[in-house]
Amino acid sequence: MPGFEFFGEEERKEVNEVLETGILMRYGFDAARKGRWKAKELEQEINKTFGSKYAQLTSSGTAALTTAMSALGIGYGDEVIMPAFTFVASFEAVLSVGAVPVLVDIDRTLTLSPAAVRAAITPKTKCVMPVHMCGSMADLDALKAICAEHKLLLLEDACQSIGGTYKGKSLGTIGDAGTFSFDFVKTITCAEGGVVMTNSEAVYTMCDGFTDHGHDHLGVDRGADLHPFIGYNYRISELHAAVGLAQIKKLDTFLAIQKKTHATLKGILSTVPEVSFREIPDENGDSCSFVSWFLPTEELTKGVIAELKAQGILGGNFYWFDNNWHYIRKWHHLKKATALNALNDLQKEALLKLDTHDFAVSNAIMNCCISTSISLLWTDEQIKEKGEKIVAAIRKVIG
Ligand SMILES: *Cc1c(COP(=O)(O)O)cnc(C)c1O
Repeated sequence: MPGFEFFGEEERKEVNEVLETGILMRYGFDAARKGRWKAKELEQEINKTFGSKYAQLTSSGTAALTTAMSALGIGYGDEVIMPAFTFVASFEAVLSVGAVPVLVDIDRTLTLSPAAVRAAITPKTKCVMPVHMCGSMADLDALKAICAEHKLLLLEDACQSIGGTYKGKSLGTIGDAGTFSFDFVKTITCAEGGVVMTNSEAVYTMCDGFTDHGHDHLGVDRGADLHPFIGYNYRISELHAAVGLAQIKKLDTFLAIQKKTHATLKGILSTVPEVSFREIPDENGDSCSFVSWFLPTEELTKGVIAELKAQGILGGNFYWFDNNWHYIRKWHHLKKATALNALNDLQKEALLKLDTHDFAVSNAIMNCCISTSISLLWTDEQIKEKGEKIVAAIRKVIG
């Protein structure tokens, strides 16, 4: 999964080009930067690589989600339907714009259940936010149909699925807007960074201003810019963008390695009849950063996790059901509405209700699920050995 495994000469060269001019900021200082515009260049490269019309870089994936929601006009009084299995950043962004995150069940795609989305729609629903978890996608045709029927926005959190596609289109470019994260453990990294992609010029223009204090970027210099609306500082730096520029050129290599390793590992795991796999709405579009698989019961799954741990080979095998970051079960701070500043009343009321909300459907999926992350550095022998050790642990536990 992580691009940091392939850090090298190319990243150093790009960063050094920025260090040579000393212009570490993405705007202004036109003469001194000697034609070096790494953030702009990376945005163009993103559009070219993923087929989006517009791309706005940000300081993180969380900032990208916040920016996208603001540009789409999501705020106080609005509800955003999102899955109970994601990374905390997804609900953080919803809360940060004053909206209410409505968490609903997932299905065996490990992403939003379209039926659960339908059941959660109220007059306040403004947006559906699928999260393409662990490299693969939500059922976008079903979600698009729901959004069209109810006149809702579709915002894709594709932070974990860079390079994944659905019916030939890049994840993150299919909804009204979509985001990637370039944090340190994502498929390509800038150290920290993110992007909003959209095909709407109006949404892009708002993202551009929002991430830079509302500047319209039309003045002769920064001091002459007007501020058509309030913005914040969610800018990426030239240093971070430079790293991303080197990384994006390696994406095809990363994806080819992931796909090959994924096929081998899945093949080895399939030799156990009790193992089943995550459902994938478009199998060809899986970015293959993880193999996600199920055992028949919670007890067996916990047994296998314990066995892998006992053998010292748990690393890279994620049991999200017990994880503090990715699944609602352990988001106690969210369910108790514990924030440093005052949340608005609508948010507070909705969050406190989560504590008693029944997530039995998601629990039954998550408590049997293990995701094995794929390293770009494994040799063929290591992949085989890892797969066979997992299979041996499963057989031992099943008995
Ligand atoms: C990583 C991630 C984010 C946020 O990214 P940061 O760059 O770390 O802020 C958002 N959503 C999901 C699903 C993620 O995995």
